[in-house]
Amino acid sequence: MSSFRLLSLLLLLSQSCSSQNSKNQPPMSETNKANPVYSRTDTGKVSLNPDEWKKILSPELYYIARQKGTERPYTSVWEKNQDKGTYYCAACGNPLFVSDTKFDSGCGWPSFYAPVTKSSIIYLPDNSHGMSRTEVQCGRCKSHLGHVFEDGPPPTGLRYCINGVILDFEKAKEKESEYNKKND
Ligand SMILES: [Zn+2]
Repeated sequence: MSSFRLLSLLLLLSQSCSSQNSKNQPPMSETNKANPVYSRTDTGKVSLNPDEWKKILSPELYYIARQKGTERPYTSVWEKNQDKGTYYCAACGNPLFVSDTKFDSGCGWPSFYAPVTKSSIIYLPDNSHGMSRTEVQCGRCKSHLGHVFEDGPPPTGLRYCINGVILDFEKAKEKESEYNKKND
């Protein structure tokens, strides 16, 4: 290979890297290539040890999902997202919330008043940081999602305060067809 071709190849590689880094969150389809447990249809429970998780999750996602981290408020691209669609667990693909139950809580994290189904989420008491809270985890892979509080809007009165990093959003198909109709 000539040095010129090698140079152009390197340039190409560095360009594709920097374009990915400039985004807040990479498209999940890219990160999921390395994640063999990610599935939006498989409902079988996922049980991996920390080392196995570390290999398939980004450092940021590993910190939130497996080390019960909390992202800085107002940093998630999903916090103000008003598109219709479904929010999946970014670690395993389990459907967690739909946009119909999303509301603007003003707390700085994506907030919902109900999960997709009762079994999509599990609840655990969390007495860390001198507070008595209820932690919510993914019902399929037990990744940490956030907490649920009892100051939400009707009909449930609940506020699921969720780290945006653990959410993988897909726009509803109806939206697409509406768009196509308008543009036909
Ligand atoms: Zn999960």
